[in-house]
This record gives sequence, structure tokens and C-alpha cells, in this order.
Amino acid sequence: MSGQPDLRGLDLAQLTALVKSLGQPAFRARQIFRQVQKYGARSFSDMTELPFSFRDYLAEIADLSNPEEVQRQVSASGDTAKLLLELADGVRIEMALMLYRRAKARDRATCCVSSQSGCAMGCCFCATGLTKAFRNLTAGEIVAQAQAGERLSRELGFGGLTSIVYMGMGEPLANLEAVHQSIRLINDQEGLDIGARRITVSTAGLVPQIYEMMEWNLQVSLAVSLHSADPEKRRQMMPAAAKYSLAELIEACRAFRARTGRRVTCEYALFHQLNDSLRDAELLANLLTGTDILVNIIPANPVPELGIH
Ligand code: SF4
Repeated sequence: MSGQPDLRGLDLAQLTALVKSLGQPAFRARQIFRQVQKYGARSFSDMTELPFSFRDYLAEIADLSNPEEVQRQVSASGDTAKLLLELADGVRIEMALMLYRRAKARDRATCCVSSQSGCAMGCCFCATGLTKAFRNLTAGEIVAQAQAGERLSRELGFGGLTSIVYMGMGEPLANLEAVHQSIRLINDQEGLDIGARRITVSTAGLVPQIYEMMEWNLQVSLAVSLHSADPEKRRQMMPAAAKYSLAELIEACRAFRARTGRRVTCEYALFHQLNDSLRDAELLANLLTGTDILVNIIPANPVPELGIH
């Protein structure tokens, strides 16, 4: 994070303004965009469409985020993988890949990207908040994760990515601008070209930002982490998110559905003796009946450091 423009986070218009300011013809911007977004150039020397002298000059005045793979974990079955990536300033983040072989359809490869290192939301069941180095990721750093997922997917014998979920470290809607820009770049036909309908943004329930998302005019899906329909229990489990009432949150989900036509999913992680009683189920049913919101029940991961087993 040198303060220089990160080419991986710039769209075509921004690149065009940059190359023009350097006295270069506008077509150079499209060349850079294609090299960086479509072919995933990892260094300036990878941009073989550009003259040597221009590549060298770009390397002096711009950055190209390229997280380093520190650790790779691949499941025994080879259908899930997790990368620990180190960013230019030494901050470490995680990216996960889920792969699905399908007999009669194209294989699916879903990349789960982080939007922040750490998280300030303080959910009681989540280890991400324990991460000390907290900051927002840039659009380029988010795109770089998707590109790492694309490479890994092909390495593991699958095709390219078919979908992206913003469900890794961090609260995506607390880093709205970078998330929006990264989606536009990932969605671009001259980039990874992942359809907006195959991109899902998750939130713990930041209501004003859900309304802002509607203004994007993009067909992305929304997943809301609810985890309890009991206001007091939700406040204990997700203190920052519970700043907004359940009624406000459900109203925002309804508005999102009406505005975008995209169905909203409610994520509900089941924690033993915390939110898994019959009463919890009844409250959830009462809250969501008639809303057209899908419920996705998730088996919770143990977090011994937080007393979650
Ligand atoms: Fe963890 Fe998500 Fe809550 Fe942040 S918002 S603490 S990443 S569950």
C-alpha cells in the first residue's frame, strides 16, 4: 500500500485516465485491463502486450497487488481448498475454494473471498474478530483473491470459477466501495467475466448499506447472517449487527428483493444450546413467513478460543 494506483483495482475508465495522464494512447488502457483482469498478470513483466519501456515506467509509478501464497490446504477429496495469502504490507487473509463435480452439467467452482483482514463486528461465535491486523481490503486485493481461486481451480483439474461469494474474513458491507468496485471488475466481460447472478454478498445485517447496494443496479445476490430471530439473543451473538432491529432488517431484505428481483438468503448457523431450540425455530418461522426469504442452515464450526464447541 504505497499510495500509488493499484492497476488491479482500476476499471477501464480509470486506466484510460491514467494512461492519458502519462501521455500514452487510450488503447493502452484496454491492453492493461485485459492483461491484469483477464489474464491475471502477476507482475509488470507479465504484461507482454505492452512495450518494454512502458512496462518499466508503469512499474515505477503504479502497483500491481499480487498476494503471496503462504499456505495451501486441500482436502483429501480435493474438493475444498483454503489459501493463506500475505498482502504487500504483511497482512494475512484467507481465501477458500469449493469445487463440485457434476455428471450432467458444468463443474462448479466457488471462490469465497475476504473483504477485510479481521472484522470489527464482534460476533461472539467468530474467530475472525480475533485477528489483530484489521483493515479494509482494496478492490485490487479482493480481485487478486478471485484470480488466485481461478488459478487454483484449474490446477486442481476443474474449469475456471463459476461463482464468487463474499463470505470470507470481514463484513463486506463495511467496505462497500471496494466491494462494489471489485464486483464490477470481476463481472466485466473483459475480466474474469463472472455473471452478477453468480456473485453473492453476505452481511451480518448492515441495513443502510443494503439500501445502498440496491443502487448498484447489479443482479448480485444478498445473504444475511441472521443466526437468531430472538432480538435479545441476536444482540448477544451479533452486537454490532443488532444495532438495527429485526423488523428493519427484514424490511430492507424485502426492499432488496422488490428492487433487484434477486431472492435473499438468510444464513442460520446452528450452535448447540445457543440458538437450536424448538422455540428458536418457531421464532425464525414467525419472522420469515411470507417474506420469500430462503433459509440456509449451516453446521457451525467450533471455535475453542471463544468457547464455541
Ligand atoms: Fe465474523 Fe462475519 Fe461477524 Fe465479522 S460479521 S465477526 S466475519 S461472522
